[in-house]
Amino acid sequence: MKIGFLGLGNMGGPMALNLLKAGHQLSVFDLVAASVKHLVEAGASAVGSPAEMAKGDCEVIITMLPASQHVKAVYLGEDGLLAHVKAGVLLIDSSTIDPISAREVAGAAVKHGNPMLDAPVSGGTGGAAAGTLTFMIGGEQADFDRAQPILAAMGKNIVYCGGAGNGQVAKVANNMLLGISMIGAAEAMNLGVSLGMDAKVLAGIINTSSGRCWSTDTYNPFPGVIETAPASRGYTGGFGTDLMLKDLGLATEAAKQARQPVMLGAAAQQIYQTFSQQGNGGLDFSAIIKLYSKQEG
Ligand code: NAD
Repeated sequence: MKIGFLGLGNMGGPMALNLLKAGHQLSVFDLVAASVKHLVEAGASAVGSPAEMAKGDCEVIITMLPASQHVKAVYLGEDGLLAHVKAGVLLIDSSTIDPISAREVAGAAVKHGNPMLDAPVSGGTGGAAAGTLTFMIGGEQADFDRAQPILAAMGKNIVYCGGAGNGQVAKVANNMLLGISMIGAAEAMNLGVSLGMDAKVLAGIINTSSGRCWSTDTYNPFPGVIETAPASRGYTGGFGTDLMLKDLGLATEAAKQARQPVMLGAAAQQIYQTFSQQGNGGLDFSAIIKLYSKQEG
């Protein structure tokens, strides 16, 4: 199939490579020339702008951009995709953005005669490279059915979440809970250790008791408890604090629009904001446990 892929960053780059590996013909665009070159060397063809991609013969166009403003510019801008794309071309946005913006862009696409899905992912850069991402999809069921074989080249779990924007709803709700639960795990682990417990023994108790969650049993923030977790390698790699902060911002913004209280989500946002302001935005978000450490000297 002829597919356009726009946004070849940490996630989009490996996702596009997996589409090539699955035998699709790819037309690609990014503002960063080196990212485009990498895909061209792997067999893709480059176009010079979103408009050029839209005017081409792609049956499907996928975007993987940083945030809402980039998505709106690429789709709704004067020389953007919707100004030039033929009716019927399926549009799939995999960026993580707020559900309201996703619905606005999908509404404009449908008006133009283009089916559109919001398709944010979880699984990180490792999942993108391995082709094991989870896709959360909002849009029409028939369009989901059409997209599924394409997305299967990049992901393992492809879940239909309901109408337009619902993929983003699932993503922000999950990540808000993750942000909150990581702070809880950090607080509990530090309390136990400061009262004299061994961290591994405490984690073992929690993980066979009612406090267990992903933040304690897979991604424990205390160093040395889980060898494969970022906490055991200086909080490098993994999911950055600033990315978590972005997702909590999406959750609180969406909550405001829905007039729905998110008391712990908002508190978590402020806690990660404080941590980021202290210069830790690039560390894995589980490094939030450092806020609870006793300062030396
Ligand atoms: P990234 O910054 O590495 O990549 C974004 C790419 O978009 C860049 O290459 C940039 O040059 C390109 N871009 C920006 N504006 C553009 C435009 N107008 N036209 C063409 N290209 C443009 O970001 P990423 O880590 O790949 O994340 C992409 C999205 O996926 C984000 O919404 C992020 O929240 C989400 N996400 C990221 C992860 C992760 O672990 N990195 C996990 C899940 C979801």
